[in-house]
Amino acid sequence: MNRYSIINHKNPREIVLLRGSGCRWHRCTFCDYHADSSPDAAANFALNRTVLEQITGLYGRLEVINSGSFVDLDERTVDLLVEVCRRCAIHTMHIECHWMHRDALASFRERFEAVGTQVIFKIGVETFDIDYRERILRKGIGKASAAEIAAAGFGEVNLLCGLAGQTAASMIVDIETGLAHFSRVCVNLMVENTTPIKPDPEAVQAFLTEVVPRYKDDPRVDILVENTDFGVGE
Ligand code: SF4
Repeated sequence: MNRYSIINHKNPREIVLLRGSGCRWHRCTFCDYHADSSPDAAANFALNRTVLEQITGLYGRLEVINSGSFVDLDERTVDLLVEVCRRCAIHTMHIECHWMHRDALASFRERFEAVGTQVIFKIGVETFDIDYRERILRKGIGKASAAEIAAAGFGEVNLLCGLAGQTAASMIVDIETGLAHFSRVCVNLMVENTTPIKPDPEAVQAFLTEVVPRYKDDPRVDILVENTDFGVGE
């Protein structure tokens, strides 16, 4: 499992995949990332330390992912992350969080601001079609609109494309809504996994031929056709 990588193109940054105690929401119907977690905080810290030691501050920008939310990271890992941000002069850190932990954003942000690091919280919304998001994907964001999610403190979103019922037009609406309310949008193409949610061939084709060409050069849009396109994971 590769846990450290450097993204040299859009929004250049270092990226690390850390291990936490596991996503506490754990109910999204398309997600099977749960294997990369452990209840053993000491083992997680030992692993995360070897990953965090690779950060150099090359671009002053860091993305942290952990198959869940930052709240799932053990305390020593977060302490070390603060220290690494200080030592490597990381001016901006991107990190993921589920909607259910939105009340934890402010205090986490303060810890990093104290060492000169701005934190940008990324949330997986997958789509702004609230019925699809909650009834089919079970994201656990309730009826919150894009504006309400942004107002809660989230600065970036993950979207999921290539699902049954999606069209080029609906995927473009999702991306445009994301760009209107958030600083960056990360678009993931649904890939086959162990869940009952499967990529839809027509939606995948529409994504590849009509959506990707439209946004591939947009500096605010990351597009992941494979889960490993950021260079971490397996
Ligand atoms: S919040 Fe993220 S990690 Fe948790 S179940 Fe949903 S997609 Fe998976």
